[in-house]
Amino acid sequence: MENKRGKLLIIGFGPGSFDHITERARKAIEESEVILGYTTYVDLVRGLLREDQQIVQTGMTEEVSRAQEAVRQAELGKVVGVISSGDAGVYGMAGLVYEVLMEKNWSERDGVTVEVIPGISAINSCASLLGAPVMHDACTISLSDHLTPWELIARRIEAAGEADFVIALYNPKSGRRTRQIEEAQRILLQYRSPRTPVGLVKSAYRDRQSVIVTDLEHMLDHEIGMLTTVIIGNNSTSVYDGKIITPRGYQRKYTLDAEKQTLAPHQRLREENEPWALHTVGADKKNEKSSPRFLAEEALSRLQGTKGASVSVPAVPAAPRAFVQESIFEFAVSPGVANKKITSAQLIALAEIVGENGTMEYTPHHQINVSVPTDCPEVITGKLRETGLIVLPVGDVVSIKACDFCNGEKTDAMPYAEKLQELMGGMSVPKELKIGINGCGMSCYGAVTEDIGLVYRKGKFDLFLGAKTTGRNAHVAQPVAEGIEPDEIVETLEKIMRKYKAEGHPNERFYKFFKRVKEIEGFRHEDAPVQVLVEAVCGD
Ligand code: SAH
Repeated sequence: MENKRGKLLIIGFGPGSFDHITERARKAIEESEVILGYTTYVDLVRGLLREDQQIVQTGMTEEVSRAQEAVRQAELGKVVGVISSGDAGVYGMAGLVYEVLMEKNWSERDGVTVEVIPGISAINSCASLLGAPVMHDACTISLSDHLTPWELIARRIEAAGEADFVIALYNPKSGRRTRQIEEAQRILLQYRSPRTPVGLVKSAYRDRQSVIVTDLEHMLDHEIGMLTTVIIGNNSTSVYDGKIITPRGYQRKYTLDAEKQTLAPHQRLREENEPWALHTVGADKKNEKSSPRFLAEEALSRLQGTKGASVSVPAVPAAPRAFVQESIFEFAVSPGVANKKITSAQLIALAEIVGENGTMEYTPHHQINVSVPTDCPEVITGKLRETGLIVLPVGDVVSIKACDFCNGEKTDAMPYAEKLQELMGGMSVPKELKIGINGCGMSCYGAVTEDIGLVYRKGKFDLFLGAKTTGRNAHVAQPVAEGIEPDEIVETLEKIMRKYKAEGHPNERFYKFFKRVKEIEGFRHEDAPVQVLVEAVCGD
């Protein structure tokens, strides 16, 4: 019998709505002379089927005979479409069909033609309805123990939990199988917070679609069934406006003036923000040779390599442990606004906190910037404050930079500096801003070269606004007022700050803002005199 070559089309038709079927899947359904599928699936694609197609519907548990029948029909020379919901390669028909073919020693060269047509699997369709819960490394686990021993499934849940994968649980529960989902929850609670966001999506993109956002502790309070996919977030997943969002990476930091926050896009991919990465440059210098792991491994290899020694090192199985993600805590410390003297007790406390993994950077602004991996920022700030250090936020905030008031001899202006520190130090603004304060007319601490400068002279304050502190065209601040009464200075500065905060564009430096708005609190901006280009008389 000279047959035309038969064809097996293994078709994933997506979650269920016609909008989410691929063009190739539609054509493959159309092309098929025979369609085989589980009754519910045939019903879902009914609108795409033709009268002249032979439809073979079977029950859910008859997958193996369905695969065998599909191969048999294709071997008769027919074009056979095997339909699977979602993707046929994810707990679907693709593997089964290949298993039947393998048994028959099928080969691509002279056997029936096989084409697997990809579809949108439940992990993707359900995730899209929840927000963006997958995003990062994720896995799918089927809780059905019909074809897989429960012990193995439990080990996989355990491993995924420990390694902080986002998890999509397929086949979570059926009429008879109800304990598996409870066990899965129990295992995962050993590794993740009860508050871990969990999404329950039933019948995604089908008529009875339901979407529930809950958490690991409460997930069993809701209905979960055969048509539900359960998506469990990882350690950094959060809920925002009813949506589950997993960030693209683990880069997080703490700052003093805000809750835990993700790094802004421009801060990502910087080596200093990724203390956990296996950087190639400098790795041996900083981390590797002194890391506890390196030392432990070296010790072990020496023990094992000792000739004649009877030391045996038993293999200790690693105890399961919850995944703890440390964040980077960034802040600054200073002994005071006027006080520039740091004590040895303060330095010791700082050194202990920074340890080997943090960094300290001495800055020209009379403060030390600290960056340290931790998950308990409040413990650190508590210890430092106990020693009398001021702990300040870093970033786009107001810093007060005062002189030392001639070592405490000219203290008249000091209370105002301290008041400003108390009211405005660390306040978030569109761009970092420094207020320089000089206690006398000498102005030796350079107040007039800061964004805002105050110079105390003859019992009153002179005010300077809008220095450009860097660049080839750097310039000092513009003197806008002389002789402001001390009683008024704090309030004046507060008003200036309020306007800058409310009307400044993000990242707009104060001098640019002053130039743009032209007037703040009655102080007018004046353009700097135009520079004259002078030809060099001689030389180059
Ligand atoms: N091949 C399919 C999975 C079949 S296993 C796919 O790739 O999506 C059956 C399980 O898939 C169900 O128990 C449920 O957990 C999940 N599932 C399939 N379609 C779904 C849908 N429309 N909405 C929610 N979950 C679905």
